[in-house]
Parts: sequence; C-alpha cells; structure tokens
Amino acid sequence: MPAQLIDGLLVAAGIKREVQADVAGLLARGLRPPHLRVLLIGSHPASKAYVTSKVRACAEVGITSDTEILPDTISEKSLKARIAELNADDEVDGILVQLPLPDHLTPMSVIESIDHRKDVDGFHPMNVGRLALNMPGFRSCTPAGIQELFKHYMIPTKAKHAVVVGASNIVGTPMALMLSREHDSYNGKATTTICHKYTKDLTAHTIAADILIVAAGQPNLITAPMVKEGVVVVDVGMNRVADHTSEKGYKLVGDVDFEGVSQKASWITPVPGGVGPMTVAMLMKNTLLSAKKAVYPD
Ligand code: NAD
Repeated sequence: MPAQLIDGLLVAAGIKREVQADVAGLLARGLRPPHLRVLLIGSHPASKAYVTSKVRACAEVGITSDTEILPDTISEKSLKARIAELNADDEVDGILVQLPLPDHLTPMSVIESIDHRKDVDGFHPMNVGRLALNMPGFRSCTPAGIQELFKHYMIPTKAKHAVVVGASNIVGTPMALMLSREHDSYNGKATTTICHKYTKDLTAHTIAADILIVAAGQPNLITAPMVKEGVVVVDVGMNRVADHTSEKGYKLVGDVDFEGVSQKASWITPVPGGVGPMTVAMLMKNTLLSAKKAVYPD
C-alpha cells in the first residue's frame, strides 16, 4: 500500500495562522509587532531563495523583518560588530544569519556572537545545550518542525527505533536529541541511532528503522531496498538537480527516492512541500516567542 503523505504545507499553514493571531493580539494590546533581522552575506543563490521565503512568511503573519545584505568579503570582526549592535537593539527580537557563510568566516563563532535570547534559528551553543539538558530554549526550526508533523499526524515516537541519517549541528544532531529525550510530553522516548558519512553499512541501520529521518544532502541516498515495510520517512534533503524542462533549469529533490520508498512506507514527506515549509513556520513561532519573552523571560 502506498504511503500516506505528511503534508508540511498544510501543517505549516496552521502554525502560521496561530502566530498571526498571536501577533494580532500583541498589536491589539498596543505592543509593537515582533521583528526579525536577517543578515545575508554574499549572493549564494539558494540562500537568497531561502531568505525570500522567510521574509514572505514574516509579512504573511504580521512579523516585521529587514534583510541586511552584507558583502561576501566582510571580515568576521565587522560581522560580529554588526551582530553586537543588533543584540543591543530592543526593537529586534530575532537575529538570523543565513548559512552557509563564505569560507573565511567560522559559522559557529559567528552564531555564538548572537545573543542566545535572540537566536530564533536555535543554533547557538546555549540553545543546543539547553535542548540536550531538556531545558527551555529556542529549538532548531527544522527538527522542531518535524516534531510538529509527528504531533499533527499523531505518529508516535515512544519506544520506536528512530534512525537519523546526517549528524549536522543544525538538523541531524538536534533531531536525534529531540527523538531520544525521555521526558518529552509527546515526542521523544525513541531509541535513536545517528548515521553519517563514516557509517560503514548504512542499510544495516536504515532497514531497522521504524522512523527514518534523512538529512544528508545526497539525492537518492535512500532507496526502497534500504527500508522496511511500514516505516515513517521524513526527507529533509533539499537538493538542486539540473532539469532542462523547468524554467529555472533545476528542480528540488530530497535525499529519498520518493517513488520507490513511498511504496513501502506508512507515512512519507514529499520534497518540496514536506519539511521545508515547517522550518519557516517554526522560525515565525520562535520569533513570536522571543518578542513575547516566552522562552527567556527578563
Ligand atoms: P550538512 O552538509 O551540514 O550535513 C550532512 C550530514 O549528512 C553530515 O553529518 C554527513 O556526515 C551526512 N552524510 C553525508 N553523506 C552521507 C552518506 N552518503 N551517508 C550517510 N550520511 C551522510 O547538511 P545539513 O545542513 O544538515 O543539511 C542536510 C540536507 O538537508 C541538505 O540537503 C539541506 O539542504 C537540507 N536542509 C533542509 C532544510 C529544510 O528546511 N527542509 C533545512 C536544513 C537543511
């Protein structure tokens, strides 16, 4: 039986509606709308597209935003000086430095210079550390969005074997932390395996998964023979592959062979329209929470 589709566009629309209503509530109380400041360094084409979709989502929900385009030659010192100004600006609730950065900049060092109370991406070591310790903090938007998908579709993670392919700081590692936490009210409580490019026999792990999250950035990495019947598959991958039939000259594909794997899975996310919209929706939610000082009260 083909898999049921996990519709990220639908769930994301619901979250954005909730954020929009909350923002309207702030305005009704005479407060200013939440404000997100985006720093875009250089002219990476995919980064520009991601920033455009985040800015558009802000406008949809009533969050104000500004994008500062900084030259790709900017020094780390100058970038951090600008971030320090934004950290001190009471009118700015969220600061987002769009990744990837040019090679001469050290991403973790730049992220660490953001005030963790404005780190609405949830990438700051303070926020990732607080996730690991099950303390309040901003959660990384992509794995937090995947948790929302599980909640919406009532897909239990408790006592399941979850396999995460990809161990990056921004997706794979926080995802594995969330899935393995014992004390989460709904999600978590899974036995979790993390795989990465040094994993010897990837199939030996993926075939054992009840829940398979793939965030490797490798088109067609996961094929039907690598998964078991009934698996829940979340494809985080967003890869641009050449497509001469499309106007843009490329199409977006995930890391999973959707056609084959969806014949065996019980649930699966499409690409596009799965995890991507959830990442943006959770960014809106984090920015709202920051403006409300709901995560880090004064
Ligand atoms: P990354 O490059 O930082 O990390 C990739 C991870 O995958 C690493 O841990 C690496 O060891 C592992 N990996 C690579 N090749 C592998 C292989 N053959 N077998 C097993 N593991 C392998 O990437 P990232 O930032 O975590 O992003 C991963 C993918 O997810 C990319 O396609 C990215 O565009 C996409 N992404 C999507 C969203 C979204 O909102 N949908 C958000 C963030 C990232």
